[in-house]
Order: sequence, then C-alpha cells, then structure tokens
Amino acid sequence: MVTSPAPLEASPTGLNWSGNVRYASTGVVQPPDLAGVQEAVAGAAAAGTRVRALGSRHSFSTVADTDGLHLSTRGLGTRVEVDADGLAAVPSGATYAEVAAQLHAAGRALHNMGSLPHISVAGACATGTHGSGDGNGALATAVRGLELVTASGEVVRLDADHPDLPGAAVSLGALGVVTRLWLATEPAYDVAQTVWTDVPADALADEIEAVMGSGHSVSVFDDLRDPSVVSAVFVKQRVDGRADLAPVLAGRPSAAGPVHPVPGIDPAPATEQGGVSGPWHERLPHFRAEFVPSVGEELQTEYFVPRAAIREARAALAEVADQVAPVLMVHELRTVAADELWLSGAHGRDTVAIHFTWRPEPGPVGEAVRLLERVLAPYDPRAHWGKVAGGTVPRCDPAGAARFAVLRDRLDPGRAFGNAFLDAELDSLAAAQSST
Ligand SMILES: Cc1cc2nc3c(=O)[nH]c(=O)nc-3n(C[C@H](O)[C@H](O)[C@H](O)COP(=O)(O)OP(=O)(O)OC[C@H]3O[C@@H](n4cnc5c(N)ncnc54)[C@H](O)[C@@H]3O)c2cc1C
Repeated sequence: MVTSPAPLEASPTGLNWSGNVRYASTGVVQPPDLAGVQEAVAGAAAAGTRVRALGSRHSFSTVADTDGLHLSTRGLGTRVEVDADGLAAVPSGATYAEVAAQLHAAGRALHNMGSLPHISVAGACATGTHGSGDGNGALATAVRGLELVTASGEVVRLDADHPDLPGAAVSLGALGVVTRLWLATEPAYDVAQTVWTDVPADALADEIEAVMGSGHSVSVFDDLRDPSVVSAVFVKQRVDGRADLAPVLAGRPSAAGPVHPVPGIDPAPATEQGGVSGPWHERLPHFRAEFVPSVGEELQTEYFVPRAAIREARAALAEVADQVAPVLMVHELRTVAADELWLSGAHGRDTVAIHFTWRPEPGPVGEAVRLLERVLAPYDPRAHWGKVAGGTVPRCDPAGAARFAVLRDRLDPGRAFGNAFLDAELDSLAAAQSST
C-alpha cells in the first residue's frame, strides 16, 4: 500500500545538532514505509524539487543541507534482522545505539564504532565516519549491501559483490535515499577501556606508533596547552586479544577515576573506564547513548593524512599549537585502516585522523582551520565530509571523486539529490581530476 508521507517540521529548531547550520529546506517528510519513500522521492523529483536524506543531523558541515525537501527514514523503523551468516539487515535511520543493542542481544558485534552512538547508520556511513584502531576500517567498511531509492522512485539493491558498492557505501546522499544496509558482524566480544592522563609528551612522541597500536582502538587527546604533557590516552582493548601496551603507558599508573575526553568536563557522559571489561558497544564509543555526547556547544574539524606521516604531521601541528589552542577544546589522534571506498577519507591508505573539537566561535575557528590546512598541506590531507573545513583541502582522493562522478551521472543524472555543498566540494574536485 502506498501511504502519503506525513509532513513534519525540519527539526524543532531547523538546525543541525551543533546549531551551526540552519537548514534551508522547505520541510521534512518521514514516510512510514519503503513505498512512501519511493512516492515522496519520485513526486519531489517530478516537481523539480531537490531531495536530501537527513540522518540524525550530527554533521557540522552543510553536507546534509538542501533548498528542497528533507527526507527522514526514521519511519522505516529500527528493527535489525541477523541472518545465519551473521549479516545484519539494518533500517537506514536507526542509530548505532539502537543497532548495537540488538546485535549484542543476538550475540553479534560490529568491528568498531564512532565516538558517539547517537548517529544514524546511513548518515554515518554516508560521510565516511570512523572510530579508531590500526586494523579498523571506517564504519562503512562493514557495509555488505545497500538498498536505495533513486530519483525515479526505483528501488536499487547493491549486493556485496556489486562493482558500485564501494562507491555507494560512502555516498554523501548523492545517489539516492538509502533505505536499508546490510552490515557484516562478528561474534560479540568484550572490551576494557583504560585511560592515562598527563602522559609525558616526549616519550609519547618517541613511541607514537606503539601507542596507537596499544589496543583495538586508541585515542590520544590533547588540549595543546602544555607542550610537556599530552592530556589523555584512551586505550580500548579487546579482552579476547589484548595488544601490548607501549612502554610509556605500561610503565605508569592509569587514571584513578573517570575522565572526559575534553579536559575539565564532568566525566558522567563518558563510557566506563578503569579497565573494567564490558560489552563492545558500551566501551568503543567515548560517550554513552543516554547523555549528550562531547560538549554540545562546539564545532569540529578533522583531517586524514597517511599514517606514515604521523610524526611529521604532529610536528607541524606543534608548530602552530599556540595559535590554535585559544579556540581549541581538545584535539584527538586516531588511526583508520586503508579501505577501497571511493569517497572515504582512508581510501587507499592507512590513515591517521587528526581531529579538533573547537569552541563555538566560527571566526577564530575559521582562522585556526586555515592555518592548520597550510601546515598540513605537505602531507596530502583530506578533510572529513561531515565537519567544518577551510576550503583549501580536498574532502577525498580526487581519483575516487572522479570515479564517483561517473556512478552519480548514471544513478542521478538530473542531480535530484544535489546541493550546494556537493557542487563546491565534490563536483569541482571530480572535474579537476577529469581534466588532468
Ligand atoms: C559529537 C559528535 C561526535 C562525532 N564523532 C565522530 C567520530 O567519532 N568519527 C567520525 O568520523 N565522525 C564523527 N562525527 C561526525 C558524524 O559522525 C558525521 O557527521 C555523520 O555523518 C553524522 O551522521 P548523521 O546521521 O547525523 O547524518 P547527517 O548529518 O544527518 O547527514 C550526513 C549525510 O548523510 C546523508 N544521509 C543521511 N541519511 C541518509 C540516507 N538514508 N540515505 C542517503 N544519505 C543519507 C545526508 O544526506 C548527508 O549527506 C561526530 C559528530 C558529532 C556531533
């Protein structure tokens, strides 16, 4: 049965999560089923109205914005189904918190999670969202299949061996509305999270590769205020396969109590620490699902550079630490394994992700970001699709963008799912690459 989509408010405020983007959409529809998504998309496209799928609104960039219609897939529900091979069919609008709880109850797990479980699966995969861990690919590397609704209202299914899947797994919403994803899972595992604070900076710099390899997922946090110490190192170790700790960590006591990644903030939202083992999904994110993640009033920026350049990139950052520190809440280093997803920040190279949580001050943040893009330029940086950037760094591998453009021409020739962000950040990159 085809049910007409019910119009909703864009959001209570018309803003993204952090409040730095006021959406220009004319409204949001939330169809109750797949047929409703087909009808809404085809109807809008026929009327010449552009459509943008909207996830949980956690992107800081204007990637999700549109001057047309927003479409939420929350109406498709949140129920996960796991088959006998462990392949999980996930409704696109479900959050990682909702999906992880069901997987865990079924004895299954994902390979990794981002810092927060509040984000939608489709929205996170669409921007190449990642967690940390030398051997862990971005979250979209778990995608083994996709169902999406294209501009004509047709339902397209891409299975694991489909040649378009590496393009569609990180799609920025540019190919259509993803309605369902199939994710690889593994048997559920436990994780123990331990935090070290005020780690000597020189020793950490000497051992940086060993530090990043000290667990399944490792984050190095620093507010860049004291060059002699690094604020905190979070190590999340799988209980079924603990990695060796770097000597700089093994040789010193861990934090006596819970620690928030941002220095000086109440640690209540942080997931359990102190080396207490527990379910994967309650340790891999930094933040608990029932709390506001991070700080709430903030901006974020992140650059991906080849992991081989981790020392040089850190040294470049140290040179401008004094200039960025006044507007910085915290900086985080994570690692991401190389992948084959065309628009992913880790496409084709093992990566170190260099993240910044900023005070919500767009002017000074803009200056700091441009400075960072200047000093990181020698290391071939890519900027996170979902975060604030300075416009001088590409968002992905230009060759990946050119390949994606061919797929996009085929699936969305009329650019029914386009927006100004894609025009500026994707089309120009693909065009430049094609002309070389
Ligand atoms: C506090 C905080 C912490 C964060 N931590 C991390 C982190 O650890 N690692 C990291 O990499 N990033 C992180 N991010 C960034 C965040 O993961 C990304 O911005 C992500 O895209 C947000 O997902 P969303 O569901 O809110 O998507 P939205 O912001 O709502 O949308 C993002 C994109 O996804 C597309 N999209 C959404 N749903 C669909 C669909 N059904 N079909 C097709 N396209 C769709 C949209 O069109 C848009 O292009 C963080 C953000 C915040 C606010």
